[in-house]
Amino acid sequence: MNPANFDFHTHSSVSDGLLSPTELVRRAAANGVTWLALTDHDELGGLGEAALAARECGIDFLGGVEVSIEWREKPIHIIGLGHALDTDQSALQAGLQALRLGRVERARRMADALEAIGIDGVYEGALRYAGNPYLISRAHFARYMVEIGIAKDVSAVFHSYLTPGRPGYVDHRWVSLQDALSWIHAVGGVAVVAHPSRYRLSGGEMRALLTEFKELGGQGIEVIYGSLSHSQSLHYARLARYFGFHASRGSDFHGPEESFSELGSLAPLPLDLKPVWRFFT
Ligand code: AMP
Ligand code: MN
Ligand code: MN
Ligand code: MN
Repeated sequence: MNPANFDFHTHSSVSDGLLSPTELVRRAAANGVTWLALTDHDELGGLGEAALAARECGIDFLGGVEVSIEWREKPIHIIGLGHALDTDQSALQAGLQALRLGRVERARRMADALEAIGIDGVYEGALRYAGNPYLISRAHFARYMVEIGIAKDVSAVFHSYLTPGRPGYVDHRWVSLQDALSWIHAVGGVAVVAHPSRYRLSGGEMRALLTEFKELGGQGIEVIYGSLSHSQSLHYARLARYFGFHASRGSDFHGPEESFSELGSLAPLPLDLKPVWRFFT
């Protein structure tokens, strides 16, 4: 395994990315990524195709998933990484299936909320953007709403319609931290807190989340990722040291026009941190 330029957080069209698993892997390889994990939201369906493409391109591959959980009623994302995540008939498979059904039900409520302010047909429109009709994300809503001229781009749609307090945002019950970790661990996976800066938690809440995560056997935290500044990264590196977590790094790439950072271009991890890839060598 070659960890020189690893990226353990990416999306394909099996969730809300714009490229197929094969296209994603080819772009990663062309950009110099040496070891890639595909981490679609609440879905393992792209892992087989991505692993095959990685073999063809000559880069290393690791299975992954980004599980949508709630903690103190706030949505948080936990990355699961492992070589056998897509084992059949696991609690992880069953749990993700339930999460996907929940997404469909939430999508209908989002469409109803948007209809109430005069924007019709958004559920059907968003589904046209979902490469996988069983995995519907707010990103699919945003793409369709750009198409019909609601706002100029995806981030503008999120800002005005799809974030808390905006008319298309609906509350939703995801799964517990405890359930997500037990499912990931039961198939031999490693659990990592995704993009910790994006949750708007206070310092005390972040420490409480990480304490609970650690007590439940959580192993890692993302320290280098697309949207993170250098000084924020130093802050999460300190938390990784304090809690004894392994450090992960991922672009959270969704597509050429819709990402904070391009594949292959992430800064290195601080040298003294234990890199999360050590679990897989
Ligand atoms: P969901 O899991 O369906 O609630 O949607 C979350 C996804 O929406 C994220 O994984 C991103 O792909 C996308 N997203 C969230 N916030 C933004 C934003 N401000 N701008 C663009 N995309 C966003
Ligand atoms: Mn996404
Ligand atoms: Mn996320
Ligand atoms: Mn992600």
